[in-house]
Amino acid sequence: MALAAVLGGRNCANRAGDGARSSVLLGVLRREIPGISLIPQPTEKRSIYDPNLPALQALLAEWGEPPYRARQVWGWLYRRPAASPEEMTDLPAALRRRLSRELGFGRLEKVLELHSSDGETEKVLFGLPDNRQVEAVLMRYQRRRTICISTQAGCAMGCVFCATGQMGFQRHLRVGEIVEQVLYFARQLSHRGERLTNIVVMGMGEPFHNYDATMEAMDRLTDPDGFNFGARRITVSTVGLVPMIERFAREQRQVNLAVSLHAATDELRSEMLPINRKYPLAALMEACRSYQRETHRRLTFEWALIEDVNDTAEQARGLLRLTRGLDSHVNVIPLNPTRKYAGAASTRERARAFKEILEAGGIPCTIRVRRGIDINAGCGQLANLTA
Ligand code: SAH
Ligand code: SF4
Repeated sequence: MALAAVLGGRNCANRAGDGARSSVLLGVLRREIPGISLIPQPTEKRSIYDPNLPALQALLAEWGEPPYRARQVWGWLYRRPAASPEEMTDLPAALRRRLSRELGFGRLEKVLELHSSDGETEKVLFGLPDNRQVEAVLMRYQRRRTICISTQAGCAMGCVFCATGQMGFQRHLRVGEIVEQVLYFARQLSHRGERLTNIVVMGMGEPFHNYDATMEAMDRLTDPDGFNFGARRITVSTVGLVPMIERFAREQRQVNLAVSLHAATDELRSEMLPINRKYPLAALMEACRSYQRETHRRLTFEWALIEDVNDTAEQARGLLRLTRGLDSHVNVIPLNPTRKYAGAASTRERARAFKEILEAGGIPCTIRVRRGIDINAGCGQLANLTA
């Protein structure tokens, strides 16, 4: 079931007390709509989004369907994309019934929908059949319609400032569960006469820890016979799992790569991102260099700017040293506050000073506006509150 909550009052740059505010909001929703649970219990069923095309072909052949049928269903699933078998109007009614009976139309059920007060950011919390929850966020910026999707429920990497990391690992998402998040928003946008323009794999979880499912989902989304989304308009972000960056380079993947750096010294990075103890900066930067040698693709580095932690001139100069010789771009995002981390977002002045040092050193840098902070639109923040 859907609960749409339009929150008013605060703008995205305001930073105190977000967790508390959303807790209150959820309490209000529970009280105001008695009997409606925020956590539905979808039944465990195979999903029509699980099989790839050959598997779907095999299944429909087993059911005695003619060979062209699988591509027809595939087109409805990914090209249109249909929200239910009833919409697949040129399929025989008996097949539509069998599809929904035996496969089920997806495993994600919308639990909660939140809109930022400026209307530009929309966040959806999805319930999974095993009662796990994941989030996806739609951001509007001028003509861009970007969605941020999740690849895991929780995350094993334990980055201290991250709401998902603070939850711990629950499970990997399946291919279909990753793809479904995109299809959900693609359908919503198309109802409003809009189109999805970008996908960032920066929601809950570490995509390279769930590498196979994530890459198959990317293949599904870029399949010219299916969703046909441009690989260059997709960005996958990793905390820095070195062997997987190497594999990603070897496979000549066409989607863009972003690496979450956040600190320029091993000492600081290991405090913030425990994975740095396993793959320290020297190994990570070497993997980035070799990625660029093999693919000639520009890299993005992400930097959550935290006051008096990693926003110093020294850290900025360290970042310049690390990225020397690389074709890269730095995305600076003032920290989104989370419940279990005491750090604060850097002030605008400090963010600007940080950016100036990078640009003076020849590294392009963008300070990202924190979007939807009033709806906990940061990675994992909402699932963490309702868990
Ligand atoms: N696991 C991947 C992708 C998901 S996180 C990764 O870590 O790259 C996407 C980005 O959001 C990462 O750069 C992550 O460090 C950043 N992030 C996490 N928590 C944040 C917070 N509280 N404020 C700002 N950025 C945050
Ligand atoms: Fe996991 Fe990324 Fe959060 Fe780190 S920042 S805990 S890798 S989701």
